[in-house]
Amino acid sequence: MIIGITGTPGTGKTSASALLEDVLDLNELIKREGLYSGIDKKRDSLIADMDAVYDRVQEIADGRDIVIEGHLSHHVSDVAIVLRTSPDELERRLYERGYSEAKIQENVEAETIDVILVEAVEWCDKVFEIDTTYKTVEEVADTIREILDGIDSKVMIDKYEPGSVDWMRSFVK
Ligand code: ADP
Ligand code: MN
Repeated sequence: MIIGITGTPGTGKTSASALLEDVLDLNELIKREGLYSGIDKKRDSLIADMDAVYDRVQEIADGRDIVIEGHLSHHVSDVAIVLRTSPDELERRLYERGYSEAKIQENVEAETIDVILVEAVEWCDKVFEIDTTYKTVEEVADTIREILDGIDSKVMIDKYEPGSVDWMRSFVK
């Protein structure tokens, strides 16, 4: 089984994963092994070859359970853990990270309308959602660990069912 830690850039996937053991960085794998079909010049990013990524991840897992992280991971995972961050906080994190105005806006919009969550629900058998807005990196890592332990022991935790997060609600009067 492949478990993917996913979410809009800036939601804290890499930071939280650094506190967990044996999480495969999917973006790093794509870069290192050339699992892309081109370069998106406008976005200054690689266009991943998702069929090749899927095959390689399956090969690495070799029938075991593995955890991968990256904003594409839900495309090749059975279970997705989607990290969420309120648009205001996400904007702050991406600004601090030195992203361009355009890149900040693109990601804040994607987060606001749940793009990755919707994709994850479409692609994966099971989806969990964690709101990281008021959580430290350690707390996010602990929550991921709680979900992974639940999966391991086949105890399904319903605390992190998708739908708990709704950034649009704050706009409705
Ligand atoms: P991702 O891998 O999802 O793109 P990162 O882990 O690289 O996100 O984090 C993006 C930025 O946000 C970094 O500057 C990081 O220090 C900060 N950050 C990550 N998680 C948190 C958190 N829980 N609270 C506050 N800041 C965070
Ligand atoms: Mn990352």
